[in-house]
Amino acid sequence: MSIDSITTDTIPIVIQQSDSSKLSEVDFNNLSFGNHFTDHIFISHYFDGKWQDATIQPFRNISLPPAMAALHYGQSVFEGLKAYRNQEGKVFLFRPMDNIRRMNVSGERMCMPQIPEDFFLEALKQLVTTDAGWVPETVGHSLYLRPVLFGTEALLGVRPANEYALVIIASPAGYYYSEPVKVLIETDFARAVKGGIGYAKSAGNYGAAMYPTILAREKGYQQILWTDAKEHKYFEESGTMNVMFIIDGKIVTPPVGDTILKGVTRDSVLTLARDIGIEVEERRVSVDEVITAAEEGRLDDAFGVGTAVTIAHFSAIGYNNKDYYLRPLEERTISLQIRDRLTKIRAGIETDVHNWMLEVT
Ligand SMILES: *Cc1c(COP(=O)(O)O)cnc(C)c1O
Repeated sequence: MSIDSITTDTIPIVIQQSDSSKLSEVDFNNLSFGNHFTDHIFISHYFDGKWQDATIQPFRNISLPPAMAALHYGQSVFEGLKAYRNQEGKVFLFRPMDNIRRMNVSGERMCMPQIPEDFFLEALKQLVTTDAGWVPETVGHSLYLRPVLFGTEALLGVRPANEYALVIIASPAGYYYSEPVKVLIETDFARAVKGGIGYAKSAGNYGAAMYPTILAREKGYQQILWTDAKEHKYFEESGTMNVMFIIDGKIVTPPVGDTILKGVTRDSVLTLARDIGIEVEERRVSVDEVITAAEEGRLDDAFGVGTAVTIAHFSAIGYNNKDYYLRPLEERTISLQIRDRLTKIRAGIETDVHNWMLEVT
């Protein structure tokens, strides 16, 4: 085992290289999402009021107290971002600072300690460098990085923990949904409420969404289109993605706020849309407006956007026991063009005019 130490302005990161690799066990032509992990794991602990003991070690299970805060009271937030390999073989992180800042926003809402930005970025870079062989070469494929921050203090009293762990694991990723998905407009359950934690990537939001999602699956839909908790009249998100519609050639999407996560992909897609001269409206989008547009043949496209999938097109939208079918994928030229540009920027084929790619190696 070789041991190295990298010092950031704040906290040193000790790197213990694994003696063996599981890389040869993975079929990169048949990757599904999140079930293979790389050879290393990043772990750091927060105690005595500061982040310390930061290490990159051979991937392993970790031992934690059964009374820990995260398990009992949900002090757990996470992130998802990707590393890409360009045509010259160099490895880049896509907009990592946006994820780093969002994790701190999520953490603040759950009364968890802030993670110094330079330390967090160095942790991501060092983990990707250590597992660089795991960043796929195929254009559109990537190495998905999953940071998770959670309360580790053993306590049964309900108060913010005094001890936390920041763990980062990595998993090679292909395409998540390759086929367009059928989605159901949810008018009963809610994902997030005003004043709640919808804007935080907080673990409990995802557990709470599973039950309605399973009910939708039983009805033949793969995903839910969430509407506002109060009236169920306005769209919010789709599953764990932001949602966009193209009506009369214009992209319309709900504005981010306290019930809607501030997606990095959302911002990237809107930016590229504006670049190519597509009009974008960030405003409340009602179910009525979309259903009417679908009935009148003016709903050009509808899709979810998020890091795992980039763009997940909808094949049909279910509402009031009726399915509204959308155009065939090949006619959805605006979203296909934007997805293509994003893929090419990430692969280093197109110029990265917005400085989204941060070189790692
Ligand atoms: C992660 C997530 C998104 C997408 O955010 P990206 O930064 O684009 O990955 C959207 N909505 C929810 C609820 C999410 O958890």
